[in-house]
Amino acid sequence: MKTARLVRKTASITAWLPASLLMAGVAHAEVVPSQFSTAALVKAPETVSCTLENGSAAQCTRLVVKYQPDDLEIGPFCPPTLDDQGGIWQWDGQHPGLYRLDRAFFEMLDTLGFHFHDEDETLHIMTDLSKRPEEANNCLNVAEDESVEMTVLLPVVPVPADSPTSLGTVAKVGLALDGVPIFADAPSVLDTGNLPALDTCGGHVDPGGWYHWHATATDIDSVYDTQGVDAHCQQPQSKSAQFAYAFDGYPMFGSEDPTGEVPTDLDSCNGHFGPTERHPEGEYHYHATQEFPNLPACLKGVVAKDNFTTNARMGIGSPRKPGQGPMPGHAGDGHPGGPMPGNDDDSAGVGAP
Ligand SMILES: [Zn+2]
Ligand SMILES: [Zn+2]
Repeated sequence: MKTARLVRKTASITAWLPASLLMAGVAHAEVVPSQFSTAALVKAPETVSCTLENGSAAQCTRLVVKYQPDDLEIGPFCPPTLDDQGGIWQWDGQHPGLYRLDRAFFEMLDTLGFHFHDEDETLHIMTDLSKRPEEANNCLNVAEDESVEMTVLLPVVPVPADSPTSLGTVAKVGLALDGVPIFADAPSVLDTGNLPALDTCGGHVDPGGWYHWHATATDIDSVYDTQGVDAHCQQPQSKSAQFAYAFDGYPMFGSEDPTGEVPTDLDSCNGHFGPTERHPEGEYHYHATQEFPNLPACLKGVVAKDNFTTNARMGIGSPRKPGQGPMPGHAGDGHPGGPMPGNDDDSAGVGAP
C-alpha cells in the first residue's frame, strides 16, 4: 500500500518537470525506498518535503538507518600483529597503491618513517579516539556505538545540477542499498599519522561509532583482481548489480552494465545515460570503477540540504556546531584532515533526536 502511494506521488512530481527532461528520460530515475534492506532501517522510509542545495523545494525519501545493518559482517581492520592479515589501505605516500594490511605493508611503511608496530611486532591499535594517542602512528579500529542512528535525505526525483560537484576527502557519496552510508576517500596517513583501517569490503567505523563504506563493496573483488591485491570481500559480489543511490538520487551500479560490458561512454563522474534492469529504455546512473576507490568522482545532480545527520557524539553529521574544532586528542580521529563535523551545513543537527 505504501509503495502504491509513493508511486502516485512520484507520478505527480514528474508531471511538474519540463518536457525536455521527460524526453531525456531523466524523469524515469527515481528513488525506490523498498530497495533498501529492512535489516538496516530503524523505521519505514517516508516521503517528506525537503529543500535542495539549489534552494528549490522538492520531495525527499527520508531513511533512518542503524549504526550497522543487523546482518552485516564487518572487519578485519587492523591486524593485531605483523603475522596477521588485516583489511586494506590506499597508501598515497611513496610507492602508492592499494595494499593489504599485512607484514609487507607495515614493514614498507617502517622504512618510510611511519612506525605502526613495536619491536615485538604488535601493532599500535586505537579503539577509543577520545584518548590521547601514545604513539605517532596508530592503526585505528573504532568501537561501534549501537545507540547511533543516521538520517538520510535523498531527492525522490533526481534534479540535474548546473555543474557537477566533485567529491573530495570524506565527501558524502550516497547510501548503499544495504543501508550503509558511502563516503569518498578516507583521510590520508600523510596528514594525520594514523591509519583508519578499512576492512576487505572497503568499510570502517566512524569516530561517531557507525559503520560506512569508502568503496563499492559489492564490486570490490574486481578491484583486487585489477590491482593485484590479495584480498576478498565476504559480501556477495556482482559487477552489474545496483549498489546504492547517490545523495543526488541517481542510482549507482557495479562496473558493468546489465549486458556484462564495461561502459565506454562514461562522463567525468563515471556516469552515463543507459539501460538498467528497472529502466531498459534508459536512465542516468553511475558505475563503479575497477580501481580503488571504485566510486564516482563527482555528482551530477543536486543534493538535499541537511541530507546526512546522526545522533552520534562526534564524527560526520554529528550535532556539534561549527567552530568547535576537533575533540581533544582527536588527531587520530577517523576523519581528520577532511571536513570536520560541523563544516557540513547539517551541523545544526536537524533530524538528530
Ligand atoms: Zn571513513
Ligand atoms: Zn550503465
